[in-house]
Amino acid sequence: MILILKPGREPSAVLKRLAELDHVGAPSHVDGRWLVAVESRTESGISDRLRAHRDVETVQVSDPPYRLVARERCPEGSLVDVGPVTFGGADIVLIAGPCSVEDEEQLLKTATLVAEAGATMLRGGAYKPSTSPYGFQGLGIPGLTMLREAGRRVGLGIVTEVMDPAKVERVAEFADMLQIGARSMQNFDLLKAVGRCGKPVLLKRGMCSTLDEWLLAAEYVADAGNERIVLCERGIRSFDASTRNVLDLAAVPAIRQLSCLPIVVDPSHGTGRRDLVGPMAKASLAAGADGLLIEVHPDPDRAIKDGGQSLSLEEFGALVPELERIAPAVDRRLPSRSPVVSPA
Ligand code: PEP
Ligand code: MN
Repeated sequence: MILILKPGREPSAVLKRLAELDHVGAPSHVDGRWLVAVESRTESGISDRLRAHRDVETVQVSDPPYRLVARERCPEGSLVDVGPVTFGGADIVLIAGPCSVEDEEQLLKTATLVAEAGATMLRGGAYKPSTSPYGFQGLGIPGLTMLREAGRRVGLGIVTEVMDPAKVERVAEFADMLQIGARSMQNFDLLKAVGRCGKPVLLKRGMCSTLDEWLLAAEYVADAGNERIVLCERGIRSFDASTRNVLDLAAVPAIRQLSCLPIVVDPSHGTGRRDLVGPMAKASLAAGADGLLIEVHPDPDRAIKDGGQSLSLEEFGALVPELERIAPAVDRRLPSRSPVVSPA
């Protein structure tokens, strides 16, 4: 970190303040100004306090503010295991299922057919964030029970959203992976709670969050003791209403440079449009994503939530062979499809 002092100020008061903060500064006089270089691996902790110092004009932070999720922590990239599935390895992880768990029949039909088509995890929301208090907010525990049962019957692990820090332990009894939704990305109590819980976490990017903010959210989870984190790019807000969000695919290779964590892409929320999900799913793999999260519904026109961005079972089935063709071009593969246990 470099502190640039105001014109005409001497470094002595700043050096004294650094000593109080248990840091050492190396002053130098350059072009008529004093600069103070500070070595620190916890810059974010002291940079704010130094920025407030009366002699300091600018603080230039050089190290990233996160450490546990930084690329240097694991230069070859970390692997996150969720049961038999591994994020970050050669196999692409395909997470598929409805936006919301609606009823047993919808879920079991979806689970059976996405598993047959090649999905490796089942998704579905039992606790749904809803912009309107009058919108559908999920079936809660009965929904989780249906998810667990459907996952068990077809042999897929389940990923589902948790919104309330007080419900983390309960949801973790049902889920194989806990989703932190875009709207909760900076719910710091929730991040700490899933960190303490230890279940693998799918951390969606907040719709107005920078990459640094996203990685600092991941750092919260890791700092609370859980490094089993997978990032999920799901699009960010912009001015153009022709898609629901702007799917930031540049984030995929950019995150790979900054962080060791695996990253998947959600082209369903990223576009909000069924017709764009397939093309953006393929583009995501080409950009280096470790997996995809795709909303699939047996009758999208009748879905309670997000039907307009959900693929039908047939559309999902037709997409997977296309993904199988893209993956080898980026040295990845889709796992071979295993026979599905019939829904007895
Ligand atoms: C979802 O996955 O259904 C969801 C609500 O996602 P997001 O948090 O990305 O909006
Ligand atoms: Mn949804």
